[in-house]
Amino acid sequence: MNQQIFQTPIAYLKGVGASRADVLQKELGVSNYADLLKLYPYKYIDRTRFYKVNQLTAELPHVQLIVRVRSKEVVGEKHTKRLVVQSYDDTGSLELVWFQGIRWVEKMIEVGKAYIVFGKPGFFNNKAQMAHPEMELYSPNALKEKGNLTLQPAYSSTEKLKSYMLDSKGIQKLVANLLEQTSRDITENIPQHIISRFKLMSRREAYVNIHFPADAATLAAATNRLKFEELFFIQFKMLKNKVQHNLKFKGNIFSKVGDYFNNFYNNKLPFDLTNAQKRVLREIRQDTQRGIQMNRLLQGDVGSGKTVVALMSMLLAIDNGFQTCIMAPTEILATQHYASIESLIDDSFLEVALLTGSTSAKKRKVIHQKLESGELKILIGTHALIEDKVIFKNLGFVVIDEQHRFGVEQRARLWRKNAVPPHVLVMTATPIPRTLAMTLYGDLDVSVIDELPKGRKPIETIHFYEGHRLRMFGFMREEIAKGRQIYVVYPLIKESEKLDLKNLQDGVEVMAHEFPLPQYRISIVHGKMSAADKQVEMDRFVRGETHIMVATTVIEVGVNVPNASVMIIENAERFGLSQLHQLRGRVGRGAEQSYCILMSSHKLSHDGKVRLETMVKTNNGFELSEIDLQLRGPGNIEGTQQSGVLDLKLANLATDQQMLLLARKCVEEIFEKDPQLELPENAILNQPAVLPNGGLSWDKIS
Ligand code: ADP
Ligand code: MG
Repeated sequence: MNQQIFQTPIAYLKGVGASRADVLQKELGVSNYADLLKLYPYKYIDRTRFYKVNQLTAELPHVQLIVRVRSKEVVGEKHTKRLVVQSYDDTGSLELVWFQGIRWVEKMIEVGKAYIVFGKPGFFNNKAQMAHPEMELYSPNALKEKGNLTLQPAYSSTEKLKSYMLDSKGIQKLVANLLEQTSRDITENIPQHIISRFKLMSRREAYVNIHFPADAATLAAATNRLKFEELFFIQFKMLKNKVQHNLKFKGNIFSKVGDYFNNFYNNKLPFDLTNAQKRVLREIRQDTQRGIQMNRLLQGDVGSGKTVVALMSMLLAIDNGFQTCIMAPTEILATQHYASIESLIDDSFLEVALLTGSTSAKKRKVIHQKLESGELKILIGTHALIEDKVIFKNLGFVVIDEQHRFGVEQRARLWRKNAVPPHVLVMTATPIPRTLAMTLYGDLDVSVIDELPKGRKPIETIHFYEGHRLRMFGFMREEIAKGRQIYVVYPLIKESEKLDLKNLQDGVEVMAHEFPLPQYRISIVHGKMSAADKQVEMDRFVRGETHIMVATTVIEVGVNVPNASVMIIENAERFGLSQLHQLRGRVGRGAEQSYCILMSSHKLSHDGKVRLETMVKTNNGFELSEIDLQLRGPGNIEGTQQSGVLDLKLANLATDQQMLLLARKCVEEIFEKDPQLELPENAILNQPAVLPNGGLSWDKIS
C-alpha cells in the first residue's frame, strides 16, 4: 500500500502534464492527487431520461435528447462569430450554438448523423436552442456503454480550464484516471466499530461513488459517509486537544465554599439567581474541583447576568486562597465591569482594582505591589493585565470578556503567570448556535445562560417603513417628554464610509430640524471623530445632558445608559441579525419599558425581510443566531472566518446539525472509554491518515 501516493503532484497523473497541472492549480487549487480526489462534483445529472424537442422549456436544467444534424454553418464576424448547427427529432427542431472552440466542433460534427446532445435548453425568438451542448455520436451501443452510470458528475470549470479541454467532462476523465490508479490505496480511517454501528459506507467505496455514483441511493450513502468523516474529524481533533490538555495541565482545586462566597450570597446579593445562573455556577463549581484546568465558555445575552456569575466564581477562588482577574477588550468595557463589580461589593468587603492603559504610574505601582504580595484579590483591566510587569502571587481564576478579541497567545501569556494555570472563564454576549459553538469552541466546555432575570420587561421591537418617519418622530418626542433618552444608529459599511457619513450628517440635519434647541440636545458620535471628542459626546449623553445620541455603530461596544430606552436603527435592513441584536441590547437596562425601532426602506430583499421579521418576533439571542446561521451559512457568522469550519467541503453546519451531534457523541464516547486511544479497536485513530483529512487547522488552546 502506498501511503504517499495522494501527495503526488497532479502533473504526474495520466492525462495531465505540466501545463494542465498549472491551470488546475491556479483555477481550482488542485495541486496533488488528494486535492483532485476531494474535488467533488457540484451536481449530478440524470442521464437516464431522454427528452423530445417539444418537451423543452426554459425552466429545465441540463437535459439530453437524441437529434439528427441537418446543417452546420459558421456565421458572424470576429466576436460575433459562432457555429450554428440545425438539428431535429420527430417532434421539432433544435438549434445548437457554439461561440468557442468553433473550428474543432465544426470538424467533429457530421451532417446527417444522430447525436446525443446534452445541455441547458433556452429559447430565442421562440426557437428551442442550446449553447455549448455536449455532443456524443448516437448509437444503440453508446447507450449501452453508459451501463449503470446513470448519474453523471458535473465539475465546475472555468473558461481558462476549458481552453485546456478541462470542461466538466475533461475533469471527469482525470478523476476516472485517478481512481483507476489509486482507489486501492484509499483505506479506512474511522474505527470499524463506528462504521458498523452506523452502517457507513467504506471510505474507498465512498470516494468512488461520490464521483461516479451507481445510483441515487449509493450517492446518498457515499455523501453521507464523507460528510460524517468531515464532522467526525473536526470533533476528534477538538476533543483530542482537550483530553491531552487535561492530561497535561493540572488545575487548582477549589475544595471549599468559604466566607466570601457565603457572605456575598447571604448578605450582598440583591436578587435571586435565575435557574440558568445557578446551573452555570454548579458547572463551574464542579470544574474547579477536578484538579484539571477549567476552560469554559459562558454564553449569554446582554443583560442575562453573566457578571454576577463571574463574580461569584471569583469569590469561590478567593475563598480557596487565590487571586482573580477580569480582562476586557476595551477600556470602556473594563471600566464598566469595574463599576458593576463595585456596585455589588464595596471596598469594605473586598478591594477591587482597575488597571488600564490610562491608570497613573503611581496607582499602577501600588497595584503591582499589592498583586505581588497577594493582598489584592480582584483585578479588572484591559490588555494591561498581561504585561510582564504584572505579577500575581497566586492567580487562580481568570475571566475573559468577549472571546474572539483575545488571541490564543494572549491567553497563554496570562496563564504562564502561574506554575499551575488558572481556571479560565470566557464570557461572550454574542450567542452562537450550539452546533457552531461545538465546532468553533469544541475544546472548551460551554455554559449557557438562556434565561433573563425575572421582572425584566422585554424590549418591544417595531419595524417602520420610511413612510412612517413622522410617527417615529412623534414617538421620540413622547419618550423624551417622559424623561427618556434615545439612540439613533446609522450603519457603517467600510466600503462606503463617505456615503455613510453623509447619511449620518443628513440624518443629523433632519433631527436638528425636528428636535430644535434649546428644548432638545443631540450628541453625535462617528468613526471619523477623535477618541477624545467621542468620549466627550458619550459622557454628555451618559450624564443625561443630551437627549438623543446619533451615532454610527461605534456605540455597539459597551455603553451602558440605563435611562436610554429607545434604540432607533436606520437602514436596519443593512445590518446583520447579530449586529441588530447587539444594538438592541443597548436599551432595556433600566426599569422602563424599552423600544427598538427598525427603520427600513420599502425595498427589502428576502433575507432583509426575514431579518427584520425575526427581530420583531424574538428577543432571544440563541434563536436569532440559529436563524442567522440558516440565512447566512456558517462562513459568515462572526468568528468562523479564521477557523477550519470553512474547509468543510460536504457537510454544512446549518443543515447537518443532526449529523454533527452524532459525530460529536461518537467521539465523546471514544474518549470516555479510551482517553489515550490505547484500545486496539481505536488503533486506526493513531495512524496518520492515508488521505489527509482536508486543510483543517485549529489554533489549539494549550
Ligand atoms: P451581562 O453581563 O450578562 O450583560 P449583567 O451581569 O451586567 O449582564 O447583568 C445585567 C443586570 O441584571 C445587572 O444590573 C445585574 O445586577 C442584574 N441581574 C443579574 N442577575 C440578576 C438576577 N438573577 N435577578 C435580577 N437582576 C439580575
Ligand atoms: Mg456584562
